[in-house]
Amino acid sequence: MEFSCTVEVLAYKSRFWYNKSAIVKNYTHQDISSRAEVAKLADALASGASSRKGVGVQIPPSAYMITQSTHRTSRPRPARPAGGRFGRAPALRVHKTSHAPSSSAHTLRVVPLGGVEEVGRNMSFLEYENDILIIDMGLQFPDENMPGIDYIIPNVTYLKEKKKNIRGVIITHGHYDHIGAIPYLSAELGAPTIYAMPLTRGIILKRQDDFKHLPRLNIEQITSESRLKLGVFDVEFFHVNHNIFDTVGVAIHTPVGVVCHTADFKFDDHPVGDVPADYAKMERLGKEGVALLLSDSTGAMRPAHSSSEQDIEQNLEEIFKQSHGRIICATFASLISRLQQLIHLAEKYDRKVAIDGYSMKSNVALSQELGYLKIPKGIMIDVKHINDYPDKNILFLCTGAQGEGSAVLMRVATKEHRYVRLKEGDSVIFSSSVIPGNERTVQSLKDIIYRADAEVYHYQMMDIHAGGHAQEEDLMEMMRFMKPKYFMPIHGNYYMLKLHGRLAEREGIPKSNIVIPENGAVMELTKDSFKMTKERVPSNYVFVDGLGVGDIKEVVLRDRQAMAADGMFVIIAVVDTQTGKLKGSPDIISRGFIYLKESRDLLYETRGRTKKIIEDITQNMHPVNFQYVKEELRDKIGQFLYQRTERRPMVLPVVIEI
Ligand SMILES: [Zn+2]
Repeated sequence: MEFSCTVEVLAYKSRFWYNKSAIVKNYTHQDISSRAEVAKLADALASGASSRKGVGVQIPPSAYMITQSTHRTSRPRPARPAGGRFGRAPALRVHKTSHAPSSSAHTLRVVPLGGVEEVGRNMSFLEYENDILIIDMGLQFPDENMPGIDYIIPNVTYLKEKKKNIRGVIITHGHYDHIGAIPYLSAELGAPTIYAMPLTRGIILKRQDDFKHLPRLNIEQITSESRLKLGVFDVEFFHVNHNIFDTVGVAIHTPVGVVCHTADFKFDDHPVGDVPADYAKMERLGKEGVALLLSDSTGAMRPAHSSSEQDIEQNLEEIFKQSHGRIICATFASLISRLQQLIHLAEKYDRKVAIDGYSMKSNVALSQELGYLKIPKGIMIDVKHINDYPDKNILFLCTGAQGEGSAVLMRVATKEHRYVRLKEGDSVIFSSSVIPGNERTVQSLKDIIYRADAEVYHYQMMDIHAGGHAQEEDLMEMMRFMKPKYFMPIHGNYYMLKLHGRLAEREGIPKSNIVIPENGAVMELTKDSFKMTKERVPSNYVFVDGLGVGDIKEVVLRDRQAMAADGMFVIIAVVDTQTGKLKGSPDIISRGFIYLKESRDLLYETRGRTKKIIEDITQNMHPVNFQYVKEELRDKIGQFLYQRTERRPMVLPVVIEI
């Protein structure tokens, strides 16, 4: 039996390595004609050197793994000349293994699996020899190019193989981009112990209720004064401000020095219901010596300091003073300190408070239970009694400040809410900044509200939303506290990281000591160096769609995108297996491509072509290879439709054999 072989070298950066085409030319085209030859070539490549036909291939054996798939494609080649360059072949893939090098001695590996080059999906880990410590396990919300995807979570392929080394998971705070992947990943990683502050722990457990089929989490409560010994790592925490309570930065004492992770943070000297960040502890850490600082970059492009929650309260109070109708305020469900401010103001201005929105209600209940939220007696009313009170005595708190279609504010605006309809005199406050990407939805939501003659207050008009993230001045102040030798910006799009890196330079950290990371890149910290290596661990997106985790791959997504862009086109043909002839006329179903009734000519021609394509192929083919028939139909009808319409619908041939 004859075999030929294609060799792919997926990583060929070194001058010793031949690129794909060179190898294909020298090996495929020549005389590799048997399975034994293929095996020999594999051995030769694996042993690091080979010289067939004078071509030397030197590949460090340790850096490669070779997989040889021996399946043969069943497609015969009726219309093609035999013995072509790329005949049916057991594919021999030579590619760089991403897991081979483990922690070398006296080196700390620092790896962001997500959260750099993007906002969301925050997760990183430190690895020192046989000990791994994970920080955060967040999710990311999909963008509009990902139809049907619920969430994106980090890829933990690397960690799964080393789960016995995982000594713990530190969660810095309760935002979904830091905790959201826990239900999907915890079991996969062998349910490592999760360490979290009380509110963070409460939110994690509350969310876990939605995943009743999953095993219980191992979760331990910490305080900002806790000290944990996790394998080789000695971990302490420092309180920082953020727009959710109980946010902690992490200081990890490792054999090569102290690594500090700021979490998401800002400095607020007048926080509401909270205390300022623990400046003394940060200063102490700096004095003792910080080798590496990983710091939040989300606010790096904003100048000066972020505003204090106290300033926000004054601005909000202006709205309470001016409004004579109802006040409807939409904000993030997790922004408990903002809800607290609004409840204070409601008390002061004699308004009852109604809350709607599942996540907001559950967060309020949780925060009240844990003592983070103080609600005066008798002030809360059920939303269904909202119309029993005069308008000037009502404050309605709800979700939906990002214009989310199903959230409460949208339902109120579109008259779909059971108890609350907008009317003249209402004041609607958007008390949260718009997450990039949501701008247009928020604008159209505002249009709807203005149509109802309600008043809109947004953070651009008044400072009614303090961001949760440190801005330029605060970021530099953090560096002054920590005085790190090396610096790596985290949490943010690439440009945010880059700008944050420049701030570090301004603070006097040498450029050579600053690393702008990439997702999946392995950084190595030793006693006297910190650098990004060439090694990458898998960090591509893992999609969650309904109950499926990771079963939606890029291919499925591309199909959805294609269908969303140009629709689909189904051809159903019945073919006689004996004669290869088409029975009757093929059926055509199309969705989102063209309006069939107005495209009779195109359909007529498509049917004719379908018949010809099938019968040309099957004429001399016994038995008929229906897989091949389908592929040809897909390609040729696809080309034809493109010529006629310049659209590329997804063509789905269905061939029924009788
Ligand atoms: Zn956050």
